[in-house]
Amino acid sequence: MDYEELLTRARAAALPVLGRGQPADYIPALACADPYDFGMALATVDGEVHGTGEWRKPFSVQSVSKLFALSLALAHGGTALWKRVGREPSGNPFNSLIQLESEHGIPRNPFINAGALVVTDALLSLTGDARGAVVDFLREESGNASLAVDPAVAASEAEHGHRNAALAHFMASFGNLHNPVEEVLEHYFAHCSVAADCRDLALAGGFLARHGLRADGSRLFGRGDAKRINAVLLTCGAYDAAGEFAYRVGLPGKSGVGGGILAIVPGRGAVCAWSPGLDAVGNSVGAMAALEDFTARSDWSVF
Ligand code: GLU
Repeated sequence: MDYEELLTRARAAALPVLGRGQPADYIPALACADPYDFGMALATVDGEVHGTGEWRKPFSVQSVSKLFALSLALAHGGTALWKRVGREPSGNPFNSLIQLESEHGIPRNPFINAGALVVTDALLSLTGDARGAVVDFLREESGNASLAVDPAVAASEAEHGHRNAALAHFMASFGNLHNPVEEVLEHYFAHCSVAADCRDLALAGGFLARHGLRADGSRLFGRGDAKRINAVLLTCGAYDAAGEFAYRVGLPGKSGVGGGILAIVPGRGAVCAWSPGLDAVGNSVGAMAALEDFTARSDWSVF
């Protein structure tokens, strides 16, 4: 495969649509991102890396961090977590409160905010430091020792985090958070506020492409867990447009309101595309277009 050529073409497919998206502004620190920025990188299961555009420019990973938090919680704690969070698409916006009351404080899936707060709470109980666990894992898998939380973004999220606080308190009222709400929120905002580039994330997603094997060859978890996480990514990883993402891109993936999307190709590698302009549900317009083009031209697909 001529990866450089595929990435160049994918970028060319994205460039005409970049102006159609708007950067997230409900977190003020993200609002100043340039919607015309675009980057994309792929990493094969063997660690070969290729990139195009602004692939080395760090951006806020936001909800992409949720897939790492979930993976680490499952690796540390096993399947008990699934009693506290479901595995169904929510059919609602990622920060919606609406289902939580009728479903007794059990979030629909680990990738909506409520679900990720429960996962963060579990990871905090299991490791004592959910933020540190996610940052360390990202550093080790990417080989980028300087990867870190952006404190300005974390502070901005905390300052404007009323909705996440409401979700957390509501779940605490059902007994579905075990640590103090303020602590869970702090760790959640921190892992969402990690700054990483497309190369970092493509490399960090490799363990799911290698069926649970980390970059150093050690095992994070078994093939079954990797399969299950990829399945939940496919059905729930792209907000309330997971169906559209599956239709257009055909890969398990997780998107974030920083404009990044990390997609996994089991057995082949991981690919990360990024552009800050989002569509109405929160997916990056440019990253979607690039990934759609990439999977249309290559055999990097699960279908
Ligand atoms: N930290 C963001 C929030 O809690 C994550 C949103 C996202 O990327 O989906 O609203």
